[in-house]
Formats: sequence, C-alpha cells, structure tokens
Amino acid sequence: MSAGWASCWISSALTAARQREWGGTDTEGRAMRVVECNFCGEVLSAANDDELAQEVRRHMDDQHADASIDEQRARDMVERGAYSATDS
Ligand SMILES: [Zn+2]
Repeated sequence: MSAGWASCWISSALTAARQREWGGTDTEGRAMRVVECNFCGEVLSAANDDELAQEVRRHMDDQHADASIDEQRARDMVERGAYSATDS
C-alpha cells in the first residue's frame, strides 16, 4: 500500500541530491564570470554572462535604484567589464 508513496519519495530525494551537486562541491575550480559594479565597486559573479546580467540588475535594483539600470545597460556592463575568474 505504501510502495507508491515510498518510490515517489525516493525519486524526489534523488532529485534533491542532484540539485545539491549542481550548486555545491562540483563547481570547485570552475571559471566564473565576474564584473565589478560601476558605482560601488562590489564584485558580482555568476556562472555565465546571462546570469551575471541578471545579477547586475538585481544589485542595481537593490543598491542603486536611482541609477535606473535596465536590462540593456546591465548587459552592456557585463559585455564591457566582465572577466573570467576561477571560483576557489
Ligand atoms: Zn554597486
């Protein structure tokens, strides 16, 4: 009777373990994309340029809302200023 519930639980536990791997120890030594904030110099980093642009937008909304950086400006900042760094 409980077999269906158990196999469902096991498969979601496996999925959770897999997601932990993605965000966890497996990233050691992998290159990150990094850009410094034009305004405060804070270093923002992400796995790729797309995510980095999102990170820049989030930072701008949080810290420099009056600069009104839109998505295009955020992408420009990434294209001009981003460099690769090893996350270690
Ligand atoms: Zn900033």
